[in-house]
Amino acid sequence: MNLLRLRAMVSYQDLLVGLVLLVFFFGAKRLPELAGSLGKSMKEFKKAVSGDGEDPERAGLPATTRACGGCATPLEADWTHCPRCGTPAPPKT
Ligand SMILES: [Zn+2]
Repeated sequence: MNLLRLRAMVSYQDLLVGLVLLVFFFGAKRLPELAGSLGKSMKEFKKAVSGDGEDPERAGLPATTRACGGCATPLEADWTHCPRCGTPAPPKT
């Protein structure tokens, strides 16, 4: 119990030291900027992963009438394979 508490305290102090070092290196003014750009790039990364810049389900309208036979992911008209599971897309109707 005592050991566990000590370790928790040490890790907390390490975190604090890390934060101080971060502020020291980047400057207190640039820190929010840094966090902001990090969040922005995370957002864009998620966007890129989820598909063609927009999530059709979130947009509320289906991007296409086709859907993957394997995982039911909506497929763009010019896609030949499902980006999620790799199943060949059904032929155009
Ligand atoms: Zn699929």
